[in-house]
Amino acid sequence: MSAYQIIDHSYDVVVVGAGGAGLRATMGAAEKGLKTACITKVFPTRSHTVAAQGGIAASLGNMGPDHWTWHMYDTVKGSDWLGDQDAIEYLCREAPAAVIELEHAGMPFSRTDEGKIYQRAFGGMTQNMGEGPAAQRTCAAADRTGHAMLHTLYQQSLRYSSDFFIEYFALDLIMEDGACRGVIALNMDDGSIHRFRSQAVVLATGGYGRCYFSATSAHTCTGDGNAMVLRAGLPLQDMEFVQFHPTGIYGAGVLITEGARGEGGYLTNSEGERFMERYAPSAKDLASRDVVSRSMAMEIREGRGVGEHKDHIFLHLDHIDPKILAERLPGITETAKIFAGVDLTRQPIPVVPTVHYNMGGIPTNYHGEVVTLKDGEPDSVVPGLFAVGEAACVSVHGANRLGSNSLIDLVVFGRAAGHRLAEVCKPDAKQKELAKDSAELALGRLDRFRNADGASPTSEIRNEMQRTMQADCAVFRTERTLDEGIEKIDRIYARMQDVKVSDRSLIWNSDLVETLELDNMLGQAVVTMHCAANRKESRGAHMHEDYPKRDDANWMKHTIAWMPGWGGKDLDVKIDYRPVHEYTLTDDIDYIKPKARVY
Ligand SMILES: Cc1cc2nc3c(=O)[nH]c(=O)nc-3n(C[C@H](O)[C@H](O)[C@H](O)COP(=O)(O)OP(=O)(O)OC[C@H]3O[C@@H](n4cnc5c(N)ncnc54)[C@H](O)[C@@H]3O)c2cc1C
Repeated sequence: MSAYQIIDHSYDVVVVGAGGAGLRATMGAAEKGLKTACITKVFPTRSHTVAAQGGIAASLGNMGPDHWTWHMYDTVKGSDWLGDQDAIEYLCREAPAAVIELEHAGMPFSRTDEGKIYQRAFGGMTQNMGEGPAAQRTCAAADRTGHAMLHTLYQQSLRYSSDFFIEYFALDLIMEDGACRGVIALNMDDGSIHRFRSQAVVLATGGYGRCYFSATSAHTCTGDGNAMVLRAGLPLQDMEFVQFHPTGIYGAGVLITEGARGEGGYLTNSEGERFMERYAPSAKDLASRDVVSRSMAMEIREGRGVGEHKDHIFLHLDHIDPKILAERLPGITETAKIFAGVDLTRQPIPVVPTVHYNMGGIPTNYHGEVVTLKDGEPDSVVPGLFAVGEAACVSVHGANRLGSNSLIDLVVFGRAAGHRLAEVCKPDAKQKELAKDSAELALGRLDRFRNADGASPTSEIRNEMQRTMQADCAVFRTERTLDEGIEKIDRIYARMQDVKVSDRSLIWNSDLVETLELDNMLGQAVVTMHCAANRKESRGAHMHEDYPKRDDANWMKHTIAWMPGWGGKDLDVKIDYRPVHEYTLTDDIDYIKPKARVY
């Protein structure tokens, strides 16, 4: 592979990703005096976090009574008891301080009349350990919360002396004797290869929503970090849990925030009926996302969908005072006009459940350290490797994430990773030389795709993958769709051997980069489909019609899946399990015992 010129760098910490999670981790490490690099394939403020609309959850109690234990109860219930309760306690306890930290950093939150941070209702967020009415817990900057947050974090991160490598595409991890020692990246601008040696690597590469045909996530959400972990011989966790957001705009996939229902919006079917009253008598339109998405899919399936093909649902905001809409939901007012051609002050918006979030990802503990099952030890830490944000599976979201719990996850665990990094890394510590072949895995793969001369264009394979995931691994799953899905996705994966890349250059070769991303996504699509077929129960976002009940006796456990032999002809997915943490972090709250999940 001598054709590639390698430029070497040495840092204490390298963070891959500059979304909310990556920026908070970068700041955290730099603040502790660690020499930190942040590598990102898009300009930091273009990361998908910028698109978050509705808000960030924290029990500030600005708009009514609230408590972190109530937030914890809702998150555990939302997770359908697959979340780890030590990590959930950490998240909910730390949330208020994390939001105040953002406020002090200059984040322009919406305000109440008294000048406090404005908080709205969101799905599954309640008072009094699920007994009380909806809690107003979601802190918002109108309906552009992610935009406000990401810009604030980027501005703050410039205060510290961390180095940004912008429009660099991370290819693979450098692993030695089971520890992570750095990462290899391609500078997309000039084709140079960069080898980063570091005491620790933090993966903050976001979700992989683009495995599906219709997703609210950006085209860059291809789960590159997850794929690097699989290629490093480590497992991913709970990949069968894919969240469908109830309200993606029909046809376009663009998101209408849950905040729209938080402000009083509601759904209707072709008979004009507010059908959520039947499925979730108390929470109604503000039941958790898996419940609302399933109810919508059920209405459509039973012939009560709206539109010519009876294949979508209406979301009404036309009864809300236009002044309130202009103040609190200006972004989606514009989005509805552009992408659905409707004036939401007068007309309903056509919506349909759309892929939105990946609960699964890289298993970590609540310090952000990557863990794996090794020699019978389920929480064995992988030295030198961290993961935060949507790429990680801590697991605080379990089988279903509550809306506004991701933004808070980014900052709480981004910060926690910073603390831990300060404990395990020493500023400017001498690092041993990397092995001579440390770039082989990355460059071999890069070279193979750059010269790929098969008969299948990247876009064709990608389209096949996305349609298969959408058809066979969606809101409702059955033995039949999943078995067919496995057969199809395995065949599509094999087709990657025959991929065709037409551009051979190394300067802004988007054909090559899209192919690398497709390869990354395919591995995750395969793992997602296999894990979904493997889980013989229904829990959270995984609704298996042949096993419609949750089965705690056999399935209250995290799936972990490896993909040995990645890139080779023989596809192999190996599945095992890690126990769910059935304990809390402190004695301030007891373990919340499983019960039936009704809203
Ligand atoms: C439309 C939309 C609205 C949402 N609204 C909300 C909301 O209101 N509240 C809420 O809590 N959650 C919301 N979510 C979810 C939440 O926004 C995301 O889960 C979260 O922003 C993910 O942040 P992240 O930092 O993990 O990753 P991202 O923000 O996706 O950033 C990933 C980073 O990794 C980098 N990267 C990826 N691959 C590579 C590579 N190979 N090499 C180098 N860099 C790489 C990218 O450049 C980017 O900087 C929303 C999501 C969407 C899609």
